[in-house]
Amino acid sequence: MKCIVHTAKDLVPHSTRYGIRYSCPVGGCSVVSWNGNSPADYSTRQARIQAHNKFDQLWKSGMLTRRNAYKKLARFLEIPREKTHIANFDLDQCQRTLQFAYEILEDKSGQAWGL
Ligand SMILES: [Zn+2]
Repeated sequence: MKCIVHTAKDLVPHSTRYGIRYSCPVGGCSVVSWNGNSPADYSTRQARIQAHNKFDQLWKSGMLTRRNAYKKLARFLEIPREKTHIANFDLDQCQRTLQFAYEILEDKSGQAWGL
């Protein structure tokens, strides 16, 4: 697995208590992959966490089932369901996931989404 910034560099695995953390050997580079998820820089990793938290509210609140929430997100992002893993999203997909979740959470009637 290569760094997405320093594309010639292999990410170096270290085991941690949270799993395996692959990091770029170049000093100051923030690119990391956890457990083989697609490597991302710091801001993308933060965006993934934010998008995941907001998205999870959809099914944790009971507005949608978890399965249905993922199905709708896949359709919204126009990607196959099996590729709908927020842990692998890029920055743009994270921002669109946030937008998706906000729109549903604010549209309590659910009409726009055919809930
Ligand atoms: Zn790097």
